[in-house]
Amino acid sequence: MTERIGVYVCHCGSNIASVVDVASLAEKAKTWPQVVISRDYKYMCSDPGQEYIKKDIEEYGLSRVVVAACSPRMHESTFRRALEKAGLNGYLLEMANIREHCSWVTTDKQLATQKALNLTRAAVKRVVYHQPIVEREVSVNPATLVVGGGISGIQAALQVAEAGHLVYLVEKEAYIGGHMAQFDKTFPTLDCAACILTPKMVQVGDHPNITLLTSSEVTAVEGYVGNFTVTVREKPRYINPVECTGCGDCVAACVLKDTIPTDFDLGLSKRGAAYIPFPQAVPLRAVIDDKHCLLLNRKKCSMECVKACQRRAINFAQKDKYHTIQVGTIILATGYELFDAAKAPQYGFGRYDNVINGLQFERMTNASGPTQGKIVMKNGEEPKRVAILHCIGSRDANYQRYCSRVCCMSSVKFAHMVKDHTNAEVYEFYIDMRTFGKQYEEFYNRVLEEGVNFIRGKGAEVTKVDGQLVVRAEDTLLGAFREIPVDMVILNTALVPRHDAEHVAQVFGISRSADGFFLESHIKLDPVTTTTDGIYLAGCCQSPKDIPDSVAQGSAAAAQSLSVIATGKVKISPITASVNKELCAGCRICVGLCPFRSIQIDKATGRASINEAVCKGCGTCAAACPSGAITVLHFNDEQILAQIEGVLA
Ligand SMILES: Cc1cc2nc3c(=O)[nH]c(=O)nc-3n(C[C@H](O)[C@H](O)[C@H](O)COP(=O)(O)OP(=O)(O)OC[C@H]3O[C@@H](n4cnc5c(N)ncnc54)[C@H](O)[C@@H]3O)c2cc1C
Ligand code: SF4
Ligand code: SF4
Repeated sequence: MTERIGVYVCHCGSNIASVVDVASLAEKAKTWPQVVISRDYKYMCSDPGQEYIKKDIEEYGLSRVVVAACSPRMHESTFRRALEKAGLNGYLLEMANIREHCSWVTTDKQLATQKALNLTRAAVKRVVYHQPIVEREVSVNPATLVVGGGISGIQAALQVAEAGHLVYLVEKEAYIGGHMAQFDKTFPTLDCAACILTPKMVQVGDHPNITLLTSSEVTAVEGYVGNFTVTVREKPRYINPVECTGCGDCVAACVLKDTIPTDFDLGLSKRGAAYIPFPQAVPLRAVIDDKHCLLLNRKKCSMECVKACQRRAINFAQKDKYHTIQVGTIILATGYELFDAAKAPQYGFGRYDNVINGLQFERMTNASGPTQGKIVMKNGEEPKRVAILHCIGSRDANYQRYCSRVCCMSSVKFAHMVKDHTNAEVYEFYIDMRTFGKQYEEFYNRVLEEGVNFIRGKGAEVTKVDGQLVVRAEDTLLGAFREIPVDMVILNTALVPRHDAEHVAQVFGISRSADGFFLESHIKLDPVTTTTDGIYLAGCCQSPKDIPDSVAQGSAAAAQSLSVIATGKVKISPITASVNKELCAGCRICVGLCPFRSIQIDKATGRASINEAVCKGCGTCAAACPSGAITVLHFNDEQILAQIEGVLA
């Protein structure tokens, strides 16, 4: 088999060329069998770079192309398009990653050049065995699933719905709003959170294009971009949502009233088993908490709620409902959790009264919260001295190494709120003050002028001396160790991935980064797409961020979804696995291993059979099959062996 191969070595500016001798690599490539042209160029991905490839394909009659450049994740599609424009099938291309694998991992020019040579030679050997492949095109279901009804999910859902398409918004809790619904004011403008969030929540509840499923979770996702089939489990609310008017009579009548610590108020208030967490809740319907309800748990209760409900809306016979939904795209907006400050026992959270976390403080300052907006200690008195500690569990090698981005600003907000609501002296302990956003520095300066004591040094410990809370910290500006007695401590804790993030990632077939948040395709250039086509990310499930950034990302995810819907068709990768029925022994090993559940045993033949529409071509099955019956297109044995031979030659 004689091929005519062109080799193109990229400098990537100085990224590659400052370490790898690109000119000698291109020269050497000319001597390899079947290579008819070889060039090096400053930026192969630029228009002139691609132009070289197109022209050479025509002039030299190239039948295969090798590009030695950056990661194929970055530019494989760019070069495939260049080949296609010149009339060559885009899969007759192979890339050698001489940037991430060579110049970026060593400063040793000789070693880097030798490795680049080996990888490029391997690509040349491999490309000979490439076959033309045709991409499949499938039609797109124009409906979108949004998972998570916090501010980012709400934004994404409204935007897709406003564009005229159906949206299913699935929220785990009985109400939408996420963490923003717990706040009173939001930095940097001190907008009332409810004033800006409630209209959006109401719009979601009323929108003709949005089907809102609360108390619901996605249990299974099958299919592929354009055609996902999603199973949603809706837990019973034990209230008929059509009859319930949200009057609250059942809430007042429940025999467990004021006995169960609330999640929404983070234990600062108590509720009954029938409850409505906040007055602006959407949907404004009561819910009965099956973990505590006496009737549901012990089958014994006088059922005062049922007697109180004039609408006869309470229905204890409700069971789990399963919905099957067909959508083309999915937006995940499942948000974050707060780091459990008790895991850092030096701060006394959970041990000492009046040591609270940021969300508890948010509830305290909220007019509809447990203290009707008053900042008070457990004994009901106003504190005279309050300490706010930054970075609890963030920027700390013992817990989370990353910066949680919003805590400097929310700490500054807390300081302002304490000053605004009380006469207390405020001490704020920080490592750095990170006020990077629009109007953030101005807000910080404003609070500085309000007379807050900013102490540069991380709070090291909170102790109790003779019944008095004492914060110990090193003041790095004074160069002195300080012990400050206070009445209340607010721990501004890290934003962390939700406890069930791994389970959610598995259900949707996406990955997580080392810090546990969902992984985006490219941290800078593709922050809302995942490596699973058609599944996008919005808000804090991707990384900690503030409300402006969560809203912007919600819109960006909606735009990605709409761009798929607008074309009506989507190309899906033709790189899939297939089974040679003659060789398959029907051992089922592949069935259990396939992460995308795309393999079944054909009942008639007893052999494995792969659903190509679902298969992602990851190759797990092919690597595991003891009979060698499975092949993955574009990654067959000949291709891989030729590549290995090229590296070792
Ligand atoms: C103490 C504190 C104060 C803050 N103050 C401000 C401020 O003043 N200004 C500001 O800009 N930012 C502030 N922030 C940041 C703000 O909270 C976030 O930017 C914002 O809440 C992110 O929204 P989200 O929709 O991504 O996530 P979330 O608000 O966490 O919402 C996620 C939603 O998804 C739901 N969900 C989770 N898992 C599932 C699942 N598997 N299925 C279905 N639903 C699911 C959750 O129940 C929730 O409703 C503050 C943060 C903290 C901790
Ligand atoms: S269930 Fe009945 S009593 Fe309870 S809020 Fe709804 S209408 Fe009112
Ligand atoms: S390559 Fe195999 S294991 Fe991977 S998705 Fe396809 S069938 Fe499943």
